[in-house]
Amino acid sequence: MKVAAPTMIGVYGGTFNPVHFGHLRTALEVREQFGLDELRLIPCRLPPHRCQPSVSAADRLAMLQLACADIDGFVVDGRELAREGPSYTVDTLVSLRQEYPQTPLLLFMGQDAFEGLMRWHRWQHLFDHAHVVVMTRPGYQCLALPTFLQVRLTQEPSALNVHNAGKLFFTTVTALAISATAIRAMIAEQRNPKFLLPDAVIAYIHQHRLYFSSDTGF
Ligand code: ATP
Repeated sequence: MKVAAPTMIGVYGGTFNPVHFGHLRTALEVREQFGLDELRLIPCRLPPHRCQPSVSAADRLAMLQLACADIDGFVVDGRELAREGPSYTVDTLVSLRQEYPQTPLLLFMGQDAFEGLMRWHRWQHLFDHAHVVVMTRPGYQCLALPTFLQVRLTQEPSALNVHNAGKLFFTTVTALAISATAIRAMIAEQRNPKFLLPDAVIAYIHQHRLYFSSDTGF
């Protein structure tokens, strides 16, 4: 039996060091908002804009798999970990586009990531392969956009279905003030991170003694 191709795929990248409810809650909300068949959570191998994470890529991937195991439509995608060199999002989109030539791809990023977008490698080419969807907090006022982005901005969600790529869209998600940096610091100080990330991930962190020394940050 032939498996139907997905009609819309979301791409949610990050260091996930470790994955937490800020990531998971927003991922779930955008999957529902946009009716995505799949939301691909893609851990990066070498973040180009920051130092290398001290915890191994295999650990970050394993934690993400534990966190997403029971969530419908969440797909953990390890393609960046298998690739040599830095993880450039544009290369990830090219490889997804080869697999899914006709499917709209939605690249999700937080407001903080969007504010640094113009420093990303070949950032304008992201729009050749995907739409960019910025997840904002309620009440967010968009800054003045350069013309390249302004002409791509749409407030019409159906435009993301009609075209496979090329649009910029802002969407509101529930803001949870959780950061992986704060979680790492908390564990290094032997404080309890419960309710900030899934219990299965906390158990993995304990079992593998991750983040227990304060030099595990980056
Ligand atoms: P760190 O604290 O190490 O910088 P982080 O928690 O910000 O990590 P990343 O893995 O770097 O997490 O982020 C991946 C994506 O998730 C980015 O697009 C970021 O904007 C978004 N994100 C991170 N934390 C939250 C949060 N609390 N709520 C919503 N989105 C988030």
